[in-house]
Amino acid sequence: MATVATVRGPVDTGDLGQTLMHEHVFVLATEHLDNYGRGAWWDEETRVADAIGKLRALVAKGVTTIVDPTVWGLGRYIPRVQRVVAEVPGLNVVVATGLYTYDDVPFQYEHRGPGLVMDIPEPMVEDFTRDITEGIADTGVRAGLLKCVVEHKGLTPGVERVCRAVARTHAATGTPITVHTNAAARTGLLALDLFAKEGVDLTKVVVGHAGDSNDLDYLMRLADTGATLGMDRFGLDLYNSTAARIDTIAALCERGYADRMVLSHDTACFMDYFGGAWDQVQELAAPNWRYDHIHDDVLPALRERGVTDGQITAMLVGNPRRYFS
Ligand SMILES: [Zn+2]
Repeated sequence: MATVATVRGPVDTGDLGQTLMHEHVFVLATEHLDNYGRGAWWDEETRVADAIGKLRALVAKGVTTIVDPTVWGLGRYIPRVQRVVAEVPGLNVVVATGLYTYDDVPFQYEHRGPGLVMDIPEPMVEDFTRDITEGIADTGVRAGLLKCVVEHKGLTPGVERVCRAVARTHAATGTPITVHTNAAARTGLLALDLFAKEGVDLTKVVVGHAGDSNDLDYLMRLADTGATLGMDRFGLDLYNSTAARIDTIAALCERGYADRMVLSHDTACFMDYFGGAWDQVQELAAPNWRYDHIHDDVLPALRERGVTDGQITAMLVGNPRRYFS
């Protein structure tokens, strides 16, 4: 039986159960937090307790695994996630390695690497591999997937370097990949093309945020490579309404693509993009951008549209299991 690394240790892929493939626990950049959050809008104990409550409620809906693609650039800090997970029985959390940037690499990689001031083998490959094989920092928690980004700027030199490092780490370790893409700019095609050239097994790739698109030709082109479509921003109506997301999934199910889609919200217990105003922004701007939106609203609507229980099980259970196997 294949296993996947989670915050609490390895789990048989057959035991992952209902899996939301793209949810953050905290998006909370360390340098911002340490300079502007502490003593102002951040209270560690309040926010940890809030996260525990939100994730326990998610388990009560039947979800047993979430995949948290929070990497450097979004504020990955595993000890806080460990603290929360310890208080949420029945929830597996798979964490990621990789890098989140729309453009340049961080300065800590800018001058280190092949042909650079410090001329060494690609340090990102070494760092990502250590996260997967030994664990992240001194936490003992191993990363279960790789994450990179191809945003509207496309394959800038920095983005291309990160994507190649992710692809090479995948090739060496077999670890699956999630790539954040911009659906309007159709950057999923750029990402998959680069991965194919690097020899990536495309059945081990989730094209994140594909569900922001309702362009069936684009989505089928991606899925026909063997990659999985991340229908993963339910509740983020700013990019695509729930009704349109549901129509698109139903149409793809009719065309035989239920085995090429996974579901999620891409929400968080707390996100620092609005300083400390996460609760207010969520309530006002995206009231459905919550962990329970899929189970409360989306699944009943999909069933109404003729999506079968078998197809829903494929998207929530079977496809995640295959991706991690
Ligand atoms: Zn995300």
